[in-house]
Amino acid sequence: MGASAPARSPAVFLDRDGVINVDRGYVSRWSDFEFLPGVVDALGDLCELGYQLIIVTNQSGIGRGYYTEGDFALLSTQLIDHLKEAGVNLTAIYHCPHHPTEAQGGFRQVCACRKPAPGMLLRGIEDWNLDPERCVLVGDKPSDIAAGAAAGIGKLFQVTAGDPSPGAEAVPDLAGIVQLLRSP
Ligand SMILES: [Mg+2]
Ligand SMILES: [Zn+2]
Repeated sequence: MGASAPARSPAVFLDRDGVINVDRGYVSRWSDFEFLPGVVDALGDLCELGYQLIIVTNQSGIGRGYYTEGDFALLSTQLIDHLKEAGVNLTAIYHCPHHPTEAQGGFRQVCACRKPAPGMLLRGIEDWNLDPERCVLVGDKPSDIAAGAAAGIGKLFQVTAGDPSPGAEAVPDLAGIVQLLRSP
């Protein structure tokens, strides 16, 4: 058999706060990290459907000095370990520590990674050799949807009880997209 490039598997890009866990504002400790209902099961279902799972999260709390890169790394490790025990494999977590006006020192910059910019998504697509058209983005804010659209992500879902941003489909929660992806 000749060598051939491996098939590019799709991914679900997930915002964190407000999609995976309750958005309390600047969540930085495992003790404050509360999964939204049904999320762990839904993540397992997405794995079974053949999707990689990649978190893309604005974390300007780092730049603002509310918590450190180390705090964020520890919480991310705790999240990865917890999900692994539940049989769910996270492929990667990308975060943006910057803010254009409110951050301190070098963190204060107009960057390419803070959503609505698509930098974290473009990096994930590059790092994991993804076909953006076959990927899915799930966010709760218009800035998430805008980032997904700018990165050319094929399906955009917004966790909201209200009207979704243009180009996105509204879902009540993460489990809602499992149903939609099963029966497109
Ligand atoms: Mg959010
Ligand atoms: Zn950034």
